[in-house]
Order: sequence, then C-alpha cells, then structure tokens
Amino acid sequence: MPTYEYRCLDCNRRFEIFMTYAEYGTRPVACPHCGSKNVQRRIGRVRVARSEEALLDDFADPTALEGLEDDPQALGRVMRKMSRELGEDLGPEFDEVVDRLEAGQSPDEIESALPDLAEEPQGDL
Ligand SMILES: [Zn+2]
Repeated sequence: MPTYEYRCLDCNRRFEIFMTYAEYGTRPVACPHCGSKNVQRRIGRVRVARSEEALLDDFADPTALEGLEDDPQALGRVMRKMSRELGEDLGPEFDEVVDRLEAGQSPDEIESALPDLAEEPQGDL
C-alpha cells in the first residue's frame, strides 16, 4: 500500500497516510497531530515504505547534529544509530571509525590513523 505524505497547514507538521490508490481522493485526510483537515499533499512523495530519505530527514534535524563536530563520542553514537536504522553492514572500516569516535578520537586523528579510509581503491597499476 503506498504512503501519501501530507503537510498540515495549521500546525505545519508532516505526516504520512497509508491508503490504497482507490481510497486516495475519496477518503478525507485529517492531521493526526491536531485533527485539522487543512492539509496539503506533498506532491511526488508517494513511497511504498519508510525510506532512507526519511531517515536522513531525521538526521537533518539541526538540533540532532548540533555540536557533533566537537563531540566525537556523540558523533560515533549517531553513526552507529544510523547504520542500525539502515539495517546494512557498512563494513569493518565503519565499525573501526565508530569505535574510535566513541573512544573519543577526533575525525582528524582517525583519518591519520587509518590512511586507507581517505583513498578509493585504485585498482591495479
Ligand atoms: Zn495539524
């Protein structure tokens, strides 16, 4: 069942509604946050499931990322959470970086400790 994304024009919050294609257009949509029917469909945002885009929206929340550059341990936690939510194994290098961040190393320290990270595989010369 597709997800339709709406924005409430009264409380300005976003929400998603599951509807069949047949229901769409006939079923009244109300904001789950404030009950207003003054809602606007976000065009072109039909999605079948919660996607990485929505996940990245979470991480685009400026308060969530505030101060992370100066706080490697918090950055490590966010990266670990992100990899868990993506449900993907991002590889031993990723784990290594997160471990080092959580141990309090700065990104610069990690980059110099793990020089391979900065380079893409070059293939055979
Ligand atoms: Zn609302």
